[in-house]
Amino acid sequence: MPQAVARCANEADVIAVLAHAQKYNVPITPRCGGHGYAGYSTTTGIVIDVSPMNTITVGTGTATIGAGAKLIDVYDQLTAQGVAIPTGSCSSVGIAGITLGGGIGIVDRAYGLTCDNLISADVITADGKKITCNESNEPDLFWALRGGGGGNFGVVTSFTFKTHATSDITTLQASFPLDDLENVMSVWQAWPETLPDNIWGQAIVSWIGGGSPTVGIRVFCIGSQADAEPYWTKFLADVQSIPLGTSITTATYRSTMMGNCAGANMALCRSGQRNAFAASSDFFDVPVPETGWSKLKNFINESIVAGNFGMIILDLMGGVIDNFQPTDTAFIHRKAIFSAEYYTFFNGSAPNATVDAAQVWENSFRTVMKPWSTG
Ligand SMILES: Cc1cc2nc3c(=O)[nH]c(=O)nc-3n(C[C@H](O)[C@H](O)[C@H](O)COP(=O)(O)OP(=O)(O)OC[C@H]3O[C@@H](n4cnc5c(N)ncnc54)[C@H](O)[C@@H]3O)c2cc1C
Repeated sequence: MPQAVARCANEADVIAVLAHAQKYNVPITPRCGGHGYAGYSTTTGIVIDVSPMNTITVGTGTATIGAGAKLIDVYDQLTAQGVAIPTGSCSSVGIAGITLGGGIGIVDRAYGLTCDNLISADVITADGKKITCNESNEPDLFWALRGGGGGNFGVVTSFTFKTHATSDITTLQASFPLDDLENVMSVWQAWPETLPDNIWGQAIVSWIGGGSPTVGIRVFCIGSQADAEPYWTKFLADVQSIPLGTSITTATYRSTMMGNCAGANMALCRSGQRNAFAASSDFFDVPVPETGWSKLKNFINESIVAGNFGMIILDLMGGVIDNFQPTDTAFIHRKAIFSAEYYTFFNGSAPNATVDAAQVWENSFRTVMKPWSTG
């Protein structure tokens, strides 16, 4: 438990908390959306809560976003002006944590990671100094902030991003039985070789509540159904499995990104629903052979027998993400074909022992996939 949570409304507040913490030798950690998986935004000392610094100003081709803003506000305020930045899909994630860790989202193949669109950041360093870093001023700090993780290099108070104009997004979905995992994933992971950058794809393997496990494929195309259909038709033909169902819809950028939160109670979407979860993740730079997918399928089936439920979320990478070299920013996974997140969740009151046991199980997916993953 923290000794105190300092809700900082401006840079002077952050500087004052840092000075106090140094004087009394108290550990500090910054917090934005509180969605960090490993709990690094809490401490036994003082939490520097930046969420009151959430002002968003849209300029010409840029947006300056207070480090405390939640993604729901970023999407809401930017799309209201016909622009956006590429970022994640969970409304209550904080802009600080996601940017500092990289930032994976459904338009990344077209526009890059969230951190790739960062132009500059205002940072308060441990000695209470304010630095505006960018490509030419304090470039090493700027390098580190783009994928080097939160809380490591000072307290960011504001980010300035490059924006892009929004346009409609077509969403295409199909689901297949788990039995077809090898076919579906072999075609899916080869897809980026021929996909244009305006198309991004996700595969979600899920076995929830004892139902039949499925492999869901979701594709987001910046553009119309006609833009997406040739690639989608070829994918379905190459998979050579009969889908359990398919759907195609086109919606505005705003409603695709904000989902149920578009027009809904913004406060609820900002705070989100509190769940306990266990997760682990991997990147894959080379295609997984069919034997690898079979091994994963067997492990899922064993997990189902053991009564565990869960999800594996695989996100295609490549496109503009790959225009950067691994050492250009602190986000090194530039050559990955896809990422994988092994995930399970419980309601917020689940005992710690249950969640800890699930974490051990989730980590074991990484062991199963280790022969092909890059970590
Ligand atoms: C439900 C859910 C959905 C997610 N969806 C996506 C997604 O679509 N795409 C994606 O890429 N990621 C996603 N993530 C992962 C998420 O981006 C990271 O966990 C991120 O670190 C969370 O940021 P936060 O600000 O909400 O968390 P916090 O826990 O507040 O912060 C995370 C880290 O950043 C540090 N930090 C916070 N504020 C500052 C600051 N102002 N200055 C310096 N350091 C700071 C913290 O100390 C901590 O180390 C998701 C996570 C969850 C739980």
